[in-house]
Amino acid sequence: MGERLRVAYVSPFVPPEWLEACGAEPLRLRPRRDPRDAVPAAGACAFARAALSAARGGGDVFVFATTCDQMRRAAERAAAGGARVFLLNVPATWQTPAALRLYREELERLARALAAWGGRVPDPAALADAMRRQEALREEVLAEAARRGPRAFDRLFAGPGAHAGPEPPPGRRVPLALVGGPLGAQDAALVDRIASIGGHIVLDGTETGARTLPPRFDRRRIDAEPVAVLVEAYAGSIPDVSRRPDDALYAWLRREVPLSGARGVLLVRPVWCDPWAAHAERIAEATGRPVLSLDLDGDAGARPGMDGRIEAFLEMLR
Ligand code: SF4
Repeated sequence: MGERLRVAYVSPFVPPEWLEACGAEPLRLRPRRDPRDAVPAAGACAFARAALSAARGGGDVFVFATTCDQMRRAAERAAAGGARVFLLNVPATWQTPAALRLYREELERLARALAAWGGRVPDPAALADAMRRQEALREEVLAEAARRGPRAFDRLFAGPGAHAGPEPPPGRRVPLALVGGPLGAQDAALVDRIASIGGHIVLDGTETGARTLPPRFDRRRIDAEPVAVLVEAYAGSIPDVSRRPDDALYAWLRREVPLSGARGVLLVRPVWCDPWAAHAERIAEATGRPVLSLDLDGDAGARPGMDGRIEAFLEMLR
């Protein structure tokens, strides 16, 4: 058997189970943002630009999802530049039969495209096996995240983690929730810095953390109708800022932030990300916790002066 088709992606709405069942190797990426995206004239989301660079360089195929305009534009530019791209339409609305049907049709369209590029059309038994494997991995990671914080999620992404050293013990550090858009490759340094100045991340509610993992699959139906179970878990359950209405995102925050024991929320968003702009007040209201907004850019993973702002926030929470 030849090498498997390598399919790269960044969106949590691309199911690795489906890619595996299509005979592909799923590579979920946390690409590195370019420091030049801090320049105000750039105007494009630093993460979408990083995904565009990754599409030009990683994997045989890159799957983009239509979760925001910036990602759509990145997909168009990658395709125009000659990359082999698939744009997965993810319905913005929630839990209606039409939305689930659309998402299922999109997965089937993806399977046909991958089959034409060297993969295969998935069979139900292979899909159910892949679902069990991926679910077991996610459960291990979630259990580990309760002890190690955001570092545990490294296992769900292609490429090595980039943390500088072992996680320091929580000690008297202030418990915090990290909420918002995706972390890039360089943000391991930010997580380490938060630890070094007295914060302890007890909940990773970013796009690359616990919030966007699908819920447990319905075990009673997984063998009989795996595609339907997969579609319900991914299209009907992930509480993301891209979904309309955003009640599920706020229900998740209202439940998970207090449960985690976090005393404050760090709201992170890549610079020029509109979907996560202007959520700070609503998150504070929903969680009953103070919120500090942080824009992420460049190699430092943070704007100058960010350490001082985090320190002042921690002081306030002590
Ligand atoms: S970080 Fe924001 S603007 Fe950028 S791709 Fe994600 S949702 Fe879109």
